[in-house]
Parts: sequence; structure tokens; C-alpha cells
Amino acid sequence: MRGGIKLARTFCFLLLPTALVTLSAAQGGGAGVGNAVAAAPPLVRENATVKVAPHTYVIPDFEVGQVPNVGIVVGSRATLVIDPGLGTRNGETVLRETQKVSKNSEMFLATTHYHTEHTLGLGAFPSARYVNSKTQDADFVQGWEAHAKGFASRTAIHKDLVEGSTPRRADITFDSEHTLDLGDVRVRMIVVGPTHTRGDTIFFVEGDNVLFAGDVVMNESFVAANQGSSMSGWLAAFDMLEKMQPRVIVPAHGKVGDGALIGMNRAFMLHIQARVRTLKTEGRSIDESAAAVEKEMQARHPTFARLNGVSGAARAAYNEAR
Ligand SMILES: [Zn+2]
Repeated sequence: MRGGIKLARTFCFLLLPTALVTLSAAQGGGAGVGNAVAAAPPLVRENATVKVAPHTYVIPDFEVGQVPNVGIVVGSRATLVIDPGLGTRNGETVLRETQKVSKNSEMFLATTHYHTEHTLGLGAFPSARYVNSKTQDADFVQGWEAHAKGFASRTAIHKDLVEGSTPRRADITFDSEHTLDLGDVRVRMIVVGPTHTRGDTIFFVEGDNVLFAGDVVMNESFVAANQGSSMSGWLAAFDMLEKMQPRVIVPAHGKVGDGALIGMNRAFMLHIQARVRTLKTEGRSIDESAAAVEKEMQARHPTFARLNGVSGAARAAYNEAR
């Protein structure tokens, strides 16, 4: 009974106690377990910012679905905010958190990819300049409305967040790479797609050696590959990211990890690629191969989220196998 009252109060005040978040975590990641538990609302948590390096902060997602790990990089002159959540309300939370760790008035914004839990919070920063690649900007134009519609149909809170948002286009665009100098610290922005999306962009904080990896490198999860993904492109992205020797890796969703995450993700992808090549050589169809590999990977990593990404990766590998 006490638990019930506590939950009711929680929802009234929109606080997210750890227990509630943990219960709901599996849902957001799409692990396929815990379907009976109500998902936590997709709200960036207030007063939760952690410092991961001298200039770099993260507001962790607490593994709540449709909430990104938010990045804040603070230089002597300017501040960069990465992936400010779904809708202006979340963006405002991120702005308040940013103001706790930075007194800079000059602000930049960036996003790991166009999906709306990464982009629709940008409207809370009207005077900040949004730096984006031309590819991701094109992804946004093409895909944001359908993506937002999908989220808006989930719950009343999702709907409010989507409706209370101001879609934003980039103020500064670049082709494949751009370096942003914030004063005392520089952030390299590099397009690595087509991986999770065509315009996937990573952010490497030089000196701090923190990598914001978007959905390209995940932790305790498969990567969300899909029909637009390239297996060879994804493997090339791992090689490039590994050369940067990141000390801390912040995936777009899930737990923050270290540089070893790249090797772990590569091992899953190489395994999928090898299995698919064998199955294709044996004359199995793309559907049969994808289903077989998905089943095998689920058995190996039963707790991992984004199982459907295995099928996407297997299909990409099949199409690219000679
Ligand atoms: Zn995404």
C-alpha cells in the first residue's frame, strides 16, 4: 500500500525515484522484458548532472526510454550542449542543468542524430547556435515529423512533449567534419553514418578524451542497425573511433563506459558478419539468415536491449557479402 501511494505521488510531482526508473529501464531499450511495467515518462532528470572529465558533463538517461544521455562541454568562452531531449520542456531542464556548471553566455548546440528525443529539445535554447552536418540536417527535414508522430502516439506525456516543441534547423552546417573551439577545449564533430542513421555524428572532446558516440557504440546492448545501415561503414566507424583512444564513452542511451566498449561492439558485429557469410554461402535467404542470427545472438546475450538491431545488422552484412 505504501508503495502504491509513493508511486502516485511520484507521478504527481514527476520525480523519478531510482526504483521506478530501474523497473522501467528494460522497456525503453526494447529488451522485450518487463512489458507489464508502466514505462517511466521520457523526462531528463533534474539535479543529476555528473562531471566525467575536466570540461565534460553528462546528464545520464537512467535508462529511461526516449531519454538520451545529454552532454555538456564547458570551455572558457563557450558551452556546447549535445542531445537536449524530447521537447522544449526537457530542453529547459537541460538549460537549467547547464547553467549550474557554466556561466558562459555563448552557447552551441549539437545532436548525435535526427531522432526527436535528441533534437526536439533544441527549442529551449533560442539564442544558442546549432551546429550540424548537412547530412543530418537533411535526415531531420526528411524524417523528423514521422518520428515525432510515432512518439506522440505513445502516451499523453509524449504527446505534450512533441506538441510543446519547436523544430530547429542548423545555424552552422559542415560537410563531414568540424572542430568547435570553446576556449581551452575543442570538440571534434565527425559524421560516421550510415550507421544507426545516415547522418550519425560523433563528438570527441580533445584533452578530456570523452567520446559522445551517439547510437554507434552501445553498452550492454546491441546497436540499432536497420535497413539504412552499412556493415562495412559501421566497422570503419569503430576503427576510426578506436584510434581516438577515448577514455570515456557516452553512448546516446544506456550506461557510460570506457574505451573497451568499441572492441566489444566490434566483436558483436564481426560475429554477425561471419555467421551471415556462412549462411549465405549455404544458400540461406536473407530472411532466414537474419532470423537465425537474431536467435543466436539473443541466446548469447539474453539481457541486451535492441535485439531487432541484430536483424538489421545481419541484413546489411548479407547484402554486402560477396
Ligand atoms: Zn536514434
